[in-house]
Parts: sequence; C-alpha cells; structure tokens
Amino acid sequence: MKLFFATHNLDKKREIEYIFRGKFKVLYINDYRNYPEVEETGITLAENSLIKASAGYKFTGIASFGDDTGLEVNCLNGKPGIYAARYAGENATYKDNYLKLLDKMKGANCKNRAARFRTVITICLSENKFESFEGICDGHIVKNPSGEIGFGYDPVFIPNGYNKTFAKMESDVKNTISHRAIALKKFIDFLKNKYGA
Ligand code: IMP
Repeated sequence: MKLFFATHNLDKKREIEYIFRGKFKVLYINDYRNYPEVEETGITLAENSLIKASAGYKFTGIASFGDDTGLEVNCLNGKPGIYAARYAGENATYKDNYLKLLDKMKGANCKNRAARFRTVITICLSENKFESFEGICDGHIVKNPSGEIGFGYDPVFIPNGYNKTFAKMESDVKNTISHRAIALKKFIDFLKNKYGA
C-alpha cells in the first residue's frame, strides 16, 4: 500500500522508515515537484496534523498523513507546546530552541522539570474522511544537554524509566518508546485492520 507523508523533515522520515520497516511504501514532499507551502494555522496538534494531511491528499490524490508534535513543560504552563518548532524564532535551529527552553526554565527557577512529548498523526483517506492517533511520552528536561543522536529537543529530554536523553539512546530504543512510535503503532494497527496490510 502506498501512503504520502506530508513532511520535509528528514529526521522524521528516518524514524518513520525505521518503524514501518518496509510494511508500506511511503512517499514524501521531496518526492514531488511544486508541492505547495502549507501554513500550520491550527491551534492544536490535531488541527495542524489535519491541515497537513488534507493538503497532502489534495495534492497527491493518495491516502496522506501528517503529524504534529508538541513539547509540554509543566513549570512553563505547557509551553512551548505546539510552538516547539518556532520557540526561538522563525529560523531557529534545534539547538536555539532547546537552549531557549533551558534558559526559560532557569529563569522560572523550575524545581519540577516534568515534561511530555505529544504527537498527533492524522490520515486523510479520502475527501472528508480522517482518522487521528495520539502518542504521548512522559519524562523530564535535564539541565545540561547531552547526546548527538536524534533531533529536536532530544538532547534535553529523558523519558520516564530511563537515565539518558533520547539523544544518547540507540535509535531502536527511542523508536520503541517515543511519542511518535506510540502514535505510529496505533496508526499501523488501524491500517492493518482496515487494509490487512
Ligand atoms: P513538528 O511541528 O511536529 O515538526 O515538531 C515540533 C518541534 O518538536 C520541532 O522543533 C521538532 O524538532 C520537535 N520534535 C518533534 N519530534 C521530536 C522528537 O522526537 N524529539 C525531539 N524533538 C522533536
């Protein structure tokens, strides 16, 4: 079965390919010419993933999915939340974003460093036919970044039950316990039930 994943993000592509392990043929934005710029105007992860999925379906005509991830930090009242990608500004690097987060947490004198990643994946199967899947990974934010693997806020996040950041974990561990892995597992189960894939 062929699916389109509405992302430019090569880090997400790598994780998805690992988790799908060839079960589905996935096409990406980079496989198409002239894919339109799609603005993430939603105010929830579900809305943004739906916007990405329906734009993908409209453009490619095949079942298309989009995802959106937020990082919710307790002592910052859930920030950066859905604005995690742009936390340090429009063209911020991953490092700019996590350094700003550490700075904000220092400024707020955070004693409780609990946080969670939340991902919503939405698939658009045909016009007006959508399904969404959520994955949550609870953990905490460290004071000092460590590790080189992964992407985004991985160097500052330790999932509950572990003692190293996502960025120090072998990919197969992160890709079993992460927010994205949990949402994708639900998504794959749905596809199996529906298409016997
Ligand atoms: P997006 O809007 O889903 O692309 O992601 C929002 C932000 O969360 C981006 O800055 C990503 O780098 C970050 N992010 C998404 N997934 C992960 C992850 O698995 N680990 C660390 N950061 C992530």
